[in-house]
Amino acid sequence: MALMTGEQYIESLRKLNLRVYMFGKPVENPVDDPILRPSVNSVRMTYDLALIPEYQELMTTVSHLTGERVNRFAHIHQSTTDLMNKVKMQRLLGNMTASCFQRCVGMDAFNAVYSTTYEIDQKYGTQYHENFRRYVARCQEEDLTVDGAMTDPKGDRGLPPHKQPDPDMFLRIVERRPDGIVVRGAKAHQTGMCNSHEILVMPTQAMTAEDKDYAVSFSVPSDAEGLFMIVGRQSCDTRKLEGTTVDVGNSEFGGVECLVVFDDVFVPNDRIYMNGEYDFAVMMVERFAGYHRQSYGGCKVGVGDVLIGATALMADYNGVPKASHVKDKLIEMIHLNETMFACGIACSAMGAQTASGSYLINVLLANVCKQNVTRFPYEIARIAEDIAGGAVVTAPSEADLKGEFTGPYIEKYLKVASGVSVENRLRVLRLIENLCMGAGSVGYLTESLHGAGSPQAQRVVIGRQGDLPRKKELAKALAHVVD
Ligand code: SF4
Ligand code: FE
Repeated sequence: MALMTGEQYIESLRKLNLRVYMFGKPVENPVDDPILRPSVNSVRMTYDLALIPEYQELMTTVSHLTGERVNRFAHIHQSTTDLMNKVKMQRLLGNMTASCFQRCVGMDAFNAVYSTTYEIDQKYGTQYHENFRRYVARCQEEDLTVDGAMTDPKGDRGLPPHKQPDPDMFLRIVERRPDGIVVRGAKAHQTGMCNSHEILVMPTQAMTAEDKDYAVSFSVPSDAEGLFMIVGRQSCDTRKLEGTTVDVGNSEFGGVECLVVFDDVFVPNDRIYMNGEYDFAVMMVERFAGYHRQSYGGCKVGVGDVLIGATALMADYNGVPKASHVKDKLIEMIHLNETMFACGIACSAMGAQTASGSYLINVLLANVCKQNVTRFPYEIARIAEDIAGGAVVTAPSEADLKGEFTGPYIEKYLKVASGVSVENRLRVLRLIENLCMGAGSVGYLTESLHGAGSPQAQRVVIGRQGDLPRKKELAKALAHVVD
């Protein structure tokens, strides 16, 4: 069963014993909870599309570990074509869900841990890579969704892990046993955690010798003993409880983030991929961040396509599709969106092979990609709100549209161009609202800013990789500067 159907994925989630908390209470059935279900549907799309022949080339590939056809989300990239197909796949899923479909963090963690464990073993003679290959092969065979977990709560940002007043602010090893380790701490902003079968943990930043116990990578099932998650609130989340489709904007799909607590979780030896090799923490972090910064050149572009489409529809509905400034603003949106995609494809095409044989993106271009993503979706959203008009925040509810007294007035005064129903106008306005300031804005905007590292993190890498000395030499040579 190397490829699960969407239905099998849903059923597999039901078998997990997840400890999920929301609004201060345990969630009895996270799969069918109305607030969480849209995010399950988004991940489900990664399974459904993989079984549709038209999408097979993007959604699946043949595993170098098992020789079987597997979902690309569980694949270790074997070429620059694989890297480019990954970005195209993410754009496709953004088109289909207009949300974060969550499964990429595991894919990016797979690829970062795969090549890093190979290099740790080369230096220290450890067995991490072999352990990890077996783990990836199992995830491929069972078609599992894996949550890649990197970001620690971090406490006082000015202090390293070992100097924090509370030593648990970074996830750490609290006990070493002959058969494994016990870990304690938390991971924050965990995308899709409550829709995942497994968690793959990595350190969050460069570590020193004093931070040895924090330099740890491992995997555990998402229902491991001692592990629980607390769901993050999103703007307008409780609209999903109202039973309407109009007011939610995107009623079928969404994303979800959790704080995941590891309250003394045991990890057996064969699931450990770094255990104190602090000098490799930075490699794992930078590779994961690089892959995830590439990812945004696909997923956010896919969501952007939907927002541009919604904006163009609003121009049509308002009767102004031919106004020159409207046409020009739509062109600007497309230009910004395709610039991000071009960066995602470029950092993939310029990728290179790692010592392990897998392929890594071009780090400089992946960081340029993500730096643009921290800005362009905000500008695209600004133009969307500009063209949609103030109704995006003042439009009445679906209940008012259907209200016995209010309905006729809404039908009369919210009318736009002839042939356009008021309900359709409201539906598109709400979709724009969802993406620019509702639950969908978590995935489209704030995640574009902070996901895979906040803007300054990319500027640090760009500064380091930009090779200013060479650029100065070029200028000197052409200007015939004599030192
Ligand atoms: Fe995938 Fe984008 Fe969500 Fe990251 S933010 S998990 S790349 S859809
Ligand atoms: Fe993300």
